[in-house]
Amino acid sequence: MPTRSREIRLAARPRGAPVASDFELAEVELPDPADGQILVRNAFVSVDPYMRGRMNDAKSYVPPFALGEPMRGGAVGVVVASRDDRWPEGTWVQHDLGWREAAVLDGRGIRAVNPELAPVSTSLGVLGMTGLTAYVGIVDIGEVGEGETVFVSGAAGAVGSIAAQLARARGAAVLGSAGTPEKVAWLRELGIDMAFDYRETPTRQALRELAPDGVDVYFDNVGGETLEAAIGAMRLRGRIVACGSISRYNATEALPGPRNMFMVVTKRLRMQGFIVSDHGDRFPAFLGEVGPLVAAGTIRYRETVVDGIERAPEAFIGMLEGANVGKMLVRVGPGPGES
Ligand code: NDP
Repeated sequence: MPTRSREIRLAARPRGAPVASDFELAEVELPDPADGQILVRNAFVSVDPYMRGRMNDAKSYVPPFALGEPMRGGAVGVVVASRDDRWPEGTWVQHDLGWREAAVLDGRGIRAVNPELAPVSTSLGVLGMTGLTAYVGIVDIGEVGEGETVFVSGAAGAVGSIAAQLARARGAAVLGSAGTPEKVAWLRELGIDMAFDYRETPTRQALRELAPDGVDVYFDNVGGETLEAAIGAMRLRGRIVACGSISRYNATEALPGPRNMFMVVTKRLRMQGFIVSDHGDRFPAFLGEVGPLVAAGTIRYRETVVDGIERAPEAFIGMLEGANVGKMLVRVGPGPGES
């Protein structure tokens, strides 16, 4: 029997910040799964900053979304019909056909999720893609060590909040910037004592006051002026973990880079970018280390949940504007044990 599912399609390519009319809600009938396929009913779909880039018709590390087609992205759901023995009915899975209530999948790009270990939503955040991003950035790229000073921008977001706590757990003194007093208060609760509101205190000034001896590692989620301020505050042989540049994702023209790039030379800095999907081999180590820390409450996380697939565009736009504390998610169906 066909299954009805609602999905969000790309209706127009945004110019600048995305608006509601760039998205379109549609209802489709999904066929029963064929041999080797499964039908998944999603519980949560993820909205992430990188999706803004996929809305442009531009060459990048992921192909653009097609106009008139459903958007894609991380999702977690339960198998409700299966013609693939590896994924029997009732199995919870994380996959890449988000922005919709249900999907037929052909067995590729699927990961099993154990709902007994943690809420399934965490497979899209702290124990999923954004958590792994924080882990790879702090451990592998930043090589953060005991006694170092680390600055994380976007520190109250999905990646930033875990990066800041991982750095602290490794014995670093951590500064974190975020855009509201509520976010700063939460970071302080997490033990990030040197959290500041970049809208209230310019980053350059905050770094000077909070880290007068400089910063060893900068975990960059923001780019632009924040990166320039961080370069100015770096210590000799410091490392910059280039994770994201969210202050620029809605830019309509190329913007000038940090004016102080020559300091990369004079301070012998190392700046390294990375894309988390290249680091899937680190997932078991990440889960082995961070899973128990989350279970023990040593690493804490928050989720901002918006209800209903029809509100996914609102959640996405809100996330780009800073409406989220921790991971922004959209709940589109019942979770384990719910109907
Ligand atoms: P977040 O949960 O951090 O949400 C985005 C946040 O960005 C907002 O809440 C807002 O918080 C902040 N923000 C928006 N505009 C600005 C601005 N102009 N200046 C400063 N802050 C701004 O998202 P994620 O944790 O998912 O992603 C964080 C970063 O990590 C992004 O740059 C993303 O692209 C990158 N990323 C990179 C990956 C990789 O493989 N390299 C993988 C995953 C994410 P506030 O209120 O504090 O302004």
